[in-house]
Amino acid sequence: MFCSTCGTQITDGAAFCSKCGGRVSVDAAPVSGVAPTRVVRDDKGFNWKALSLILTFSGGAVLVGAIFWWQSYYESLARQVGKNLGDALPCLYSSSGVCGFAEGVGQLLGQTPYNPIAFWIGVVGLICGFILAAVAPRAR
Ligand SMILES: [Zn+2]
Repeated sequence: MFCSTCGTQITDGAAFCSKCGGRVSVDAAPVSGVAPTRVVRDDKGFNWKALSLILTFSGGAVLVGAIFWWQSYYESLARQVGKNLGDALPCLYSSSGVCGFAEGVGQLLGQTPYNPIAFWIGVVGLICGFILAAVAPRAR
């Protein structure tokens, strides 16, 4: 412990300081050298902001990839049947009707047909990312 008057280190339990002779009050004694280390807990906890960024970017990437996949699959198909790529737009997000038929034809021809699930995975990722960014607890 340390003397509360002059700050000299003195023997624990001593009643008087060896240097200045002042009475050592245990209660008033300054906290010795090393302050007890408080366990500082990481209050931020889970990093929602990072998760929302990851979701937004990966969702966007999947969405862009889905559009390219859809384009590469349906562009040649549309040309073969004398249609425009724009006519195949519903096939980007749905496999009903002629889109399901086109997917079936692709499978028969041994191609990997475009799957609208890729579009929806991207959309859901993007939406979740945006929602998370909006509701994520602010970093303190
Ligand atoms: Zn002293």
